[in-house]
Amino acid sequence: MQSKKITIAIDGYSSCGKSTLAKALAKELDYIFIDTGSMYRSVALYCLRNNLVHNNEIVVSEIINELPKIEIHFEKNPLNGKLEVQLNNEFVEPLIRSLEVSQLVSKVAAIKEVRAKLVEEQQKMGSKGGVVMDGRDIGSVVFPNAELKLFVTASPEIRIERRFLELSQTDKSINKEEIRKNLEERDYLDSTRAESPLIQADDAILLDNSNYTQEKQLEVALNYVKSKLQK
Ligand code: C5P
Repeated sequence: MQSKKITIAIDGYSSCGKSTLAKALAKELDYIFIDTGSMYRSVALYCLRNNLVHNNEIVVSEIINELPKIEIHFEKNPLNGKLEVQLNNEFVEPLIRSLEVSQLVSKVAAIKEVRAKLVEEQQKMGSKGGVVMDGRDIGSVVFPNAELKLFVTASPEIRIERRFLELSQTDKSINKEEIRKNLEERDYLDSTRAESPLIQADDAILLDNSNYTQEKQLEVALNYVKSKLQK
């Protein structure tokens, strides 16, 4: 379909299907897929492991001091051939998907210095184009000039159901109420924080996938890509 390689920014609320779409698009287009949420989650995991969390709260100055010791990059995991996040040279999937990390990550992501470090890394990774990056601030801050920006959304009930199906595969004790609470909390923190809050960029296309299958969502997104590549 293409010779020119564009940058595709996908933003949206938690568990709305952003990563599923980003992954599928990257595969279809032979682009690199970068899940920026996994980078923030890795910093949250570092905080948990290094006693930087006291009564579910973090001490911002402690994290800022530790930042030079935190190195995050993506590497192909030889076990599954997928590009996965590494925290100080350790593959940390699926540890970063736990509810404990999910409950902390938005507090970590609100820290300006954490964002500055990760955004710099993200901009380097995407500097040559041919990338599909998903997160909360990709179209607004990381790549404000991305050729295609999608803002993905789905109804709260559908987001809870999808997250439940995903998490219950590994954690049989998980319940929907816990998930609802976590999604509501993260949406609130992510969209009200002072630093790069989650917003739909003016030039982003709204994609509500509540009634779409994954295949339909991919088809719709690929049509947007086609129209951008034809320009
Ligand atoms: O995408 P995911 O739900 O894994 O992201 C986890 C958290 O990381 C989000 O709730 C948000 O607090 C933070 N995040 C962010 N900016 C991004 C990606 C994720 O603040 N670009």
